[in-house]
Formats: sequence, structure tokens, C-alpha cells
Amino acid sequence: MTNPQTPIVRPGGRIGILGGGQLARMISLAATQLGVKTHVFSDTDASPVANCAQITVAQYDDQSALEKFASQVDVITYEFENVPASTLEILATTGVPISPGQRALATAQDRLIEKDFIRSIGASTAPYATVNDAPSLRAALNKIGTPAILKTRRFGYDGKGQVRFEADQKITERIIEDALSDIARAPAILEGFVPFEREFSIIGARNPHGQTAFFEPAVNEHRSGILHTSTLPANLPSKTVRQGESIVERMLTALDYVGVIGVEFFELGSGEIVVNEFAPRVHNSGHWTQDAAACSQFEQHVRAICGWPLGDTTRFADVQMINLIGDDVNAWHDYVGVPNNVLHLYGKTDARPGRKMGHVNRLDFS
Ligand code: AMP
Repeated sequence: MTNPQTPIVRPGGRIGILGGGQLARMISLAATQLGVKTHVFSDTDASPVANCAQITVAQYDDQSALEKFASQVDVITYEFENVPASTLEILATTGVPISPGQRALATAQDRLIEKDFIRSIGASTAPYATVNDAPSLRAALNKIGTPAILKTRRFGYDGKGQVRFEADQKITERIIEDALSDIARAPAILEGFVPFEREFSIIGARNPHGQTAFFEPAVNEHRSGILHTSTLPANLPSKTVRQGESIVERMLTALDYVGVIGVEFFELGSGEIVVNEFAPRVHNSGHWTQDAAACSQFEQHVRAICGWPLGDTTRFADVQMINLIGDDVNAWHDYVGVPNNVLHLYGKTDARPGRKMGHVNRLDFS
């Protein structure tokens, strides 16, 4: 049990981060502002965190490298949810706190466990059924109908590992076989398509003393399964916002969660809200907080996992966050000279299609 008076990490202390992408970079920048150091453990070159953090490059199953890393930090967090369970098992033996904890991570890593969990706290999800092979896919399609989306239970992100079945599609044995081979016959779920009006997300946080805080919801637009824009204000009815916050609060409490969480919702025409999924980490749809909120989601995550009081989530400008994906980054110069456009580039050199290269927060004070 954490003594409410005792921070887990003080200024001068060090946070360990698994993963060396842009989220680790932005957590490191926020930690630096608070006088807290970061140490990144990554299995690749971790270019976004070059110059912002101490870096260990090693495989996620390298026990001695993980133990050495843990011995040099005061708390461990992660910037991606596909951290191997075995990595966390090794780190757990070191006694260094891991935030968010293993249950949150294990729940978010598996779409079936995640959906069961979301329903267990009294929130709605899309209809879903387990798929392991051709007979179970056919049974799931019969039960749920089309349109529907087949999603791998694990290791899917940004629309990867997904196959769509259209409303009027004739489901033949060939279609079933192709769908299963498209997801490499991995364990999966079939999800009914939610006819949403809008997608929104809520970024929440909880510290080890049980304090919670929420940023205002952002309305999100995706392109090809990847977040394109997040816009505030979302202009959702206040009842919807209260309902969403209550769902996030229940998730945080049930998971005894420590850190920032990103929860994605669908808003139906009827006003009902359905949880799509949650990410046990800082979230792309919370990047607007860097320039339009008193405390950013990155600072909030640092505060939460260090056991500090949470920061002020007040928004002080209207804002649209635009992701710069792949070649979009070549337009950086078009944004950088515009008043109230705040550019963030991640230091990646290779602008591959679909790769998140940066974002811009376009503020509106009118
Ligand atoms: P996901 O990787 O599950 O977050 O899916 C990426 C995007 O696909 C979501 O943000 C939605 O735009 C869309 N999507 C995923 N699942 C559903 C669903 N069950 N119904 C409607 N749209 C969905």
C-alpha cells in the first residue's frame, strides 16, 4: 500500500519506459520539465528518443538487460500495449513498480478479454463472438450478421489485423477461408459494425492514491484505420460526457490503474455510447493537450506514475490536432509559419506510408 504522503519518484529520480517511439519521446520531454529523468528500453534504434533519454537497445526477452534496466529506474511504464507478457514477468521479479499494472496491460492486449471487461463494468460494446476457425467464423457471422469486422484478438493496431464483411456480401466458403488467411489464422473476434454518428475519446488518469482526472472528450476522425484529426470542443451533450467519464472512472478503479488511459467511444444517433477499446497509455487523440490544456497528457502520466497530485486538465483554446502521416510531414513548413499552429515532429527520418511522423495542434482563441 502506497503511503499517500510519499511520492514514488521525486525530482531527480528516473522513469523507465519500454518502447522508444514518439510517445516515449513526449513522455521524456514532459518528465524533463519536471526534473525527472527517463531511461528507454527498446528493441530497435529508438530514434525519436535520441537526445531525450538514456537508451538501452536490447531484445524484450533479454533477462540480464531487463534486470539491469530495472535496477537503474524508480518506476517502469510503457508506450505500447504489445509488450510481451514474459518481459513484464521478468521486470515484476525486480520489485520496481510497473504502471499501469499487469492486469490493465493483459486486458488491453486481448480484444476478447477487453470486451468482457468493458461489459463487466456495465458499459456497452459492439456485439462480438469468438473466432478460432472456419466453423466458428461461420457461426459468428450467422449470429452477428453483416456488416461486421473480423479482428485478431492480439497485436492489432491502427486497423491492422482486420477484415471487413460488407452488408450485402455473399459469404462463401472461399470468403471465409480468405478472411482467416488474411489474419494468419490467429485467434480472433467478429465484431458487429456499430453505425456510429461520431467517434470520440476520453483521456483519463489515476494516481496510486486513487485521485482521478479527465480531459475533455475529443471527436476523432480516422483515415484508413489511422487517426487523422482530433477536434475540441467535441460539442457532445453534457449527459454523454458524464456517462463517458463515469465509464472511464469505473475502468480505472476496477483495474486499480495508475497512469494515463485512452478510451475510444462510438456515439450512436440515439445518443447511446459504446466503448470501442482502451489503450493503457498516453493516446494519440490526447496530443492536443500539449498546447491547449494546462497540463498535457504526458505530464499527467508522469505525475500519476510518480505518485504526484494530478495536473489541471482545463482546456484554454479550441484546438484541432492533425496527424502528419508518411509524406504529410513534407508539409511541415506550411504549418510552422502559421500563427497558433504548434508543430511537433518526432525525429524519424524515413517517411514510410502509414508511419506517424509528427502532428500539428492548430489553436483557435477566437
Ligand atoms: P480499432 O483498431 O478497433 O480501433 O479500429 C479502428 C477504427 O475502425 C475505429 O476507430 C473505427 O473507425 C473503425 N471500427 C472498428 N471497429 C468498429 C466497429 N465495430 N464498428 C464500426 N467501426 C469500427
